Amino acid sequence: MARIIAVANQKGGVGKTTTTVNLAASLAYLGKKVLLIDSDAQGNATSGLGISKADVEKDIYDVLVNQEPIENVISESSRENLWVVPATIQLAGAEIELTNQPHRESRLHDAVQGLRDQYDFIFIDCPPSLGHLTINAFTASDSVLIPVQCEYYALEGLSQLLNTFRLVQKHFNKDLKLEGVLLTMLDARTNLGFEVVDEVKKYFKEKVYKTIIPRNVRLSEAPSYGQSIVDYDIRSKGAEVYLELAKEVLEDGE
Ligand code: ADP
Ligand code: MG
Repeated sequence: MARIIAVANQKGGVGKTTTTVNLAASLAYLGKKVLLIDSDAQGNATSGLGISKADVEKDIYDVLVNQEPIENVISESSRENLWVVPATIQLAGAEIELTNQPHRESRLHDAVQGLRDQYDFIFIDCPPSLGHLTINAFTASDSVLIPVQCEYYALEGLSQLLNTFRLVQKHFNKDLKLEGVLLTMLDARTNLGFEVVDEVKKYFKEKVYKTIIPRNVRLSEAPSYGQSIVDYDIRSKGAEVYLELAKEVLEDGE
């Protein structure tokens, strides 16, 4: 039975897509069967795993808005054991188009039910907003993983994110859990980064992953080659830390 995990933070540029792609790929590398659902119109997870957006005929938009069976939209990626439900720019229309539709919050939930027994993990890469797409992701998921960038104002905006989390718990998905909080892009040369680590740990306590993701240039290069870090450079620090995170996620599930 797949564990379904949404990766969310309404702030842009905090490492959601980098984490979704590389955690999913690391679990696939460790032999798990993984599906990544791209739910951001930017489609960075899609292209980052070697799928050309120009060649995508149907994507997550068709699943959410036109109720296309999700099986018809699943594509192979550049990594063995990892499949992708792609997103393209047409997803940008979904927020508005879903507004007047019935059961709009449970479209993704309904779509993925039949996939549970086919994968070990299903990850959903959320957009930088708390609209219908994120609500769909939370309603479909067992848990939410929150990347937090080790920067000024790291905790800013997290109370709105947690409000949305509780709202979905109350109305649509009472079993939704907080999977964990991941500190990203730590710059080990400055004190600021470590101050943020302490602050986030004070707030989220044991929910913070032991693995901290440092800044690593290989992580930022890999997407332009359409590869995850385990394929682009398995010897890099970036691959080492995402594999470590994957093991932590596996242990948490035991
Ligand atoms: P989000 O999905 O939250 O908007 P991304 O994962 O796209 O964030 O990351 C934003 C930018 O930062 C991207 O250019 C990405 O390559 C880069 N990046 C993310 N994590 C790291 C890291 N650990 N080290 C270096 N660059 C990173
Ligand atoms: Mg992203």
